[in-house]
Parts: sequence; structure tokens; C-alpha cells
Amino acid sequence: MSTAVDQVTTFKLAGRKSGHPNTRVQVGEIMVGGADLVIMAGPCAVESEDQLFEVAEILISSGIRIMRGGAYKPRTSPYSFQGLAEQGLYLLNKVRCKTGLLIVTEVIDSCSAAAVASCSDILQVGSRNMHNYSLLRELGKLQKPVLLKRGISATIEEWLMAAEYIMKEGNNSVILCERGIRTFEPYTRNTLDLSAVPLVKELSHLPVIVDPSHGTGKCSLVPAMSKAAVIAGADGLIIEIHPCPREALSDGQQSLDPCQFSALTKELKAVARVAGRIL
Ligand code: PEP
Ligand code: MN
Repeated sequence: MSTAVDQVTTFKLAGRKSGHPNTRVQVGEIMVGGADLVIMAGPCAVESEDQLFEVAEILISSGIRIMRGGAYKPRTSPYSFQGLAEQGLYLLNKVRCKTGLLIVTEVIDSCSAAAVASCSDILQVGSRNMHNYSLLRELGKLQKPVLLKRGISATIEEWLMAAEYIMKEGNNSVILCERGIRTFEPYTRNTLDLSAVPLVKELSHLPVIVDPSHGTGKCSLVPAMSKAAVIAGADGLIIEIHPCPREALSDGQQSLDPCQFSALTKELKAVARVAGRIL
């Protein structure tokens, strides 16, 4: 395990040297890691054009500028919905062009990386792929921000080393995402490690956002953990929402409905102020 003293030699590019300012990652006209609290929200999976445009309206009415949505869904069961793949990318790009919303979507392998990059603004590396070093190297060669989720059982050191793989290839636009880790506790889907937020900010200059949806697996817990994440110093949140969560093809149980999301964004404005952030 690295100590604070050797973090600079351990994390050659992601490590915070003393006095190193926070890195800001530019996504379109948005800056992740600056004063703004950046909210990304949308469905777990892209399901249809109607669904995406409904979500776009919800985001726009809450002043949110970044939409999430998976076209490629790495699921625990091979029998579960795997995403619309190329058709999903096409729909994301359509929303992006028609609404001006920025898109974050998951890339699951090197062979689809260029196609995903051409339809999105942030490339998401999912928890299951955090250790996929050939994919990380590939994304390091692209000049596109990468949202690097913490692996399901990854230590903070392993997570920051995954960031090093991307940065070593020349791409410094890495946003870290705490999304919960596997523990012995079955009441929640994962245990959201909020202590990782201030800790990673000590160790690294990279921006850190929090995913309270996968971090808890329960929509009832998402508002409280979103607010806690902001107070812990997160630079942003990535939240699953769905026009009708009980009809969602994936992760409906952890998705907020439009009313819940609009209520949360209002509360987050006040919490952001307390945390010295702008929303
Ligand atoms: C997702 O964001 O939908 C997802 C699959 O997340 P994770 O990789 O954190 O499980
Ligand atoms: Mn999901």
C-alpha cells in the first residue's frame, strides 16, 4: 500500500505533488473538477428513441447538461438485456445533435472504442473493465475524456493505477468515479465508499465523481447518498433516472423517476452552496 510520502513516485501522472492544483477536465463547455458541481443523469440503458428524448426533456428542465445511457451493457447474466449496441449509439448521437446535451456512455472493448467515441463526449469505463489494461491503453490514445469507474473489488491504489494506464498513453482527461465496492453487506447492492472521495483527492489531482445509483442499488437511498457525496467533496454525480423505472430494461430498482430527480436537483442546489460549489 502506498503512503502519502511515496504517492508521487507510485502514481507518476495521477499523483498529487504538494501544491499541485486540481485537474479540470473539459467536456464541451463544461469543466469537471472546477467550481461547478457537474451532474450527469439518464437511464442505465438506451432502450428506445422515445425513452431517450423523454429523458432529455427531464434533464433540460432541470438544467442538467450531460446525459448518461449505455448502448453496450455488460450484465452479470448473459440472458439479461445487453443493450441496443450500434442502434443505441445512433440514438445517443441523435439526442446529442438535436438537443446539444453532452453524452457519457460505456465502452466495453477496443474494437468498438472509435465508434463509441464518435457518438459521445465522455467514454465510460465500467467497473467490470477497470482492470482491462488493453482497453485502458486504447482509450489513452484517444483525445476524449474518460470516466473511470472503480472496479467492483478494486483498492484505491488499483483504481489510480488504472488511471495511470490511460494517462501514460497521453490522455490526461480522466475523471474518477466511485461507484461502490463489494462487501459482506447484502442490504445494499454495493457499499458506497464515500471516504474514497476525500482520500483520492489527497492522493491525486484528478476530479472525482460519485455514482449513488450503483453504489446503493436502491432508489430510496440515492438522494441521501448524493447529498453526502457532495459534502464529501465530489466534483459531480452520475445518477440513473428513467421515465418509468418499473418498466426499465435494466436497473429500474435504483433509478429515480422524473419527480424524484427534479426534487433531488433542487435539494442539491442548496447542498452545493454549503459545499462551496455552484449548481
Ligand atoms: C452503469 O453505469 O450502468 C454500469 C454498468 O455501472 P458499473 O460499471 O459501475 O456497474
Ligand atoms: Mn446501471
